Amino acid sequence: MAKYIPDIRNHRWVILASTRATRPHDKNKPHRVVKKNGFHVSLDCPFCPGNESQTPTEVDVIKLGNNWSVRTFANKFPITDVHEVIVHSPDHLKELPEMTDNEMQQLMIMYQRRLTELEKGGVPIVFRNKGVDAGTSLLHPHSQIIVLPSQVNLETLSLEPIKNKVLEDEHFIAYCPDFSQYPYEVWLAHKSCENIEAGSHLSDSIVFTKFTDEELAALGVLLKKTIRALGKILDGFDYNYYIGPKPPFYLRIIPRIYIRGGFEIGTGLSTNIVDPINAAEEIRKQL
Ligand SMILES: [Zn+2]
Repeated sequence: MAKYIPDIRNHRWVILASTRATRPHDKNKPHRVVKKNGFHVSLDCPFCPGNESQTPTEVDVIKLGNNWSVRTFANKFPITDVHEVIVHSPDHLKELPEMTDNEMQQLMIMYQRRLTELEKGGVPIVFRNKGVDAGTSLLHPHSQIIVLPSQVNLETLSLEPIKNKVLEDEHFIAYCPDFSQYPYEVWLAHKSCENIEAGSHLSDSIVFTKFTDEELAALGVLLKKTIRALGKILDGFDYNYYIGPKPPFYLRIIPRIYIRGGFEIGTGLSTNIVDPINAAEEIRKQL
């Protein structure tokens, strides 16, 4: 059972999850990767095909022929009572920029299916940690979903006004908000939110769980293109992204190229060393 510690005076919470300390770390044990049935596979990786018995039973799966293409199961080392792992692909090395448009759509469909199911039991948040600097312990590309009790006070941001556009398609816009706490932060938002003022409730109906399959496909492609463009500027960068748990929808990508220091932790302020106007211009050039 997760233990929630409230800080009544500051309306904040801490989750005690001591079992997390025992989880395995790839950085302590480099894998030998081989090519098998067209995939990169590591014999030591619990997320690779052939090692399914090393994970808890799957709760959802998208299949392609006889194989799985996206697979979801409970996290063996949970932060909260409901904590799931979504493995993006059978391939041990396939990062988002190398995924096909169809594979990206399947990943978005899995996010939507799990969020729809899990929001019945609390507030689910889906996120991806890529790389050691972003907090990952296993390298095989995966996302996670954590469900929080609805009484826990969250300090999440609401949708930032859409400025400094990077890229847009028929449904979504990628942009670098003026209020970016990290260098090269990019947000993806729905086009119908383009002209709303901050704090407006008009777009509260824009939620990820209501997106059509066509919108999910477009979002997957935009996410892939954005990560690819960022990778051309920040070679081999680590990053986090998450979908904001409250409407209207946004997906926030945070490159982890800058470590918050004592000043930032002590004050809650952020120092962003790259102006979002310049960041957007630089990323646009890479598309
Ligand atoms: Zn693997």
